Amino acid sequence: MKVTVIGAGLAGLNCARILQSANQEVRVIEATSRLGGRVNTDYIDGFQLDHGFQVINPAYAELKKANVVADLKLKSLPKGIEIIQSDQLIKVGDPLSNLSYLFGDLSSRSGTILEKINFLKFMFSNSADNALSSAIKPTSRFYSEVINPFLTGVFLCNPDEVSSKMARELLYWFRKGNPGVPENGVAALPKALAKNLSVDFEVSAVGIKENKVVTNQGEIKSDAIVVAINQRQAATLLGRGKWSMNQSTTWYHAVPSGAIESKHLRIDPQGKLVNSIVISNIAPSYSPEGRSLVSTTALNNHSDEMVLSELAKLWNLSATDFELIKKYEIPESLPKHLPGKSLISQIEIAPNLYAIGDYQATPSQQGALLTGRLAAEAIIKKS
Ligand SMILES: Cc1cc2nc3c(=O)[nH]c(=O)nc-3n(C[C@H](O)[C@H](O)[C@H](O)COP(=O)(O)OP(=O)(O)OC[C@H]3O[C@@H](n4cnc5c(N)ncnc54)[C@H](O)[C@@H]3O)c2cc1C
Repeated sequence: MKVTVIGAGLAGLNCARILQSANQEVRVIEATSRLGGRVNTDYIDGFQLDHGFQVINPAYAELKKANVVADLKLKSLPKGIEIIQSDQLIKVGDPLSNLSYLFGDLSSRSGTILEKINFLKFMFSNSADNALSSAIKPTSRFYSEVINPFLTGVFLCNPDEVSSKMARELLYWFRKGNPGVPENGVAALPKALAKNLSVDFEVSAVGIKENKVVTNQGEIKSDAIVVAINQRQAATLLGRGKWSMNQSTTWYHAVPSGAIESKHLRIDPQGKLVNSIVISNIAPSYSPEGRSLVSTTALNNHSDEMVLSELAKLWNLSATDFELIKKYEIPESLPKHLPGKSLISQIEIAPNLYAIGDYQATPSQQGALLTGRLAAEAIIKKS
């Protein structure tokens, strides 16, 4: 079959990779000049700057299926987070990746044992799909002071509103795996997926007419068309479907190396930032000799001065210790996954026309890769 894949993000690359290995004639077109879509890294003056703080979970089933985990040379984050509570720093073992933390070093200031048991019950239940806040009692301190602030960084929105079923699914992967960042930045992931693929860059789909993809460089006749672009872009190109995506901003600052020793994600639930981490303490390749790289995320785009003042408080340093390297505003970071939306949507939306991407499954790398594989398998079955 002659297949055109529109978009070289994780979904499109995984789909094209599987199609090509099954000897289908596949052409990937990508509007920009680089691979990876939302998974990207800039290399500036010895710093590796991912487009937003993003980790890769080697336990994701689709990463294992794609056989790319070894290529990534992942440096794992520790299994815990640091939370500021009443001006004090407490280390909370990440109950989502290691349940034993719940009953071990977890301070009672972060919630009662009963609240933690209730959270475990939620994790292992199969309750109906509700807003997360009603599935896990929002009055619980453990939810409001640990789980909610942590999950804000995972869903890049207020987790109260997201689907509890989807949250449980993503928490399942956190529990199973040991997320980390690749030695060479998250761009290593799309690069590994595209190892044997050729991609036509700066070719943008502007419409679909029956079995043709209309691009800025002419039409491409295809037996099957795979639309592998984000939810907003798909709604525009296909002229159907609603979209709703979150936004986030990530700042990268340099500090003198050794100024911060922590390897943990640090969160101040009362502050204006979602989280901050010295990413080069996880993977030293993220910063040049003598400097450390701090990655800080917020949902809103705050002024640089405000971010500096929050950072100084968070890391107990002076604002003048931080030098801004670059800021990434990401207007379309993750699709909103609200209660009632299924964990996998119909991907063949018309005969031989497939719509894939994270918004068709869960807002994650796993979701994007899964839809790519399912579309490829459906096409191969028909060929
Ligand atoms: C800040 C941030 C942090 C994240 N953190 C995590 C995390 O820790 N763990 C996790 O699992 N997931 C995380 N994610 C989510 C994950 O990155 C995405 O779910 C996934 O990359 C989506 O891939 P995709 O292929 O569906 O879409 P995209 O990455 O959006 O790819 C779509 C591609 O299509 C191209 N395109 C668009 N329109 C056209 C057109 N008309 N013609 C041709 N090409 C076109 C785009 O340029 C792009 O390359 C994060 C995302 C962000 C933004």
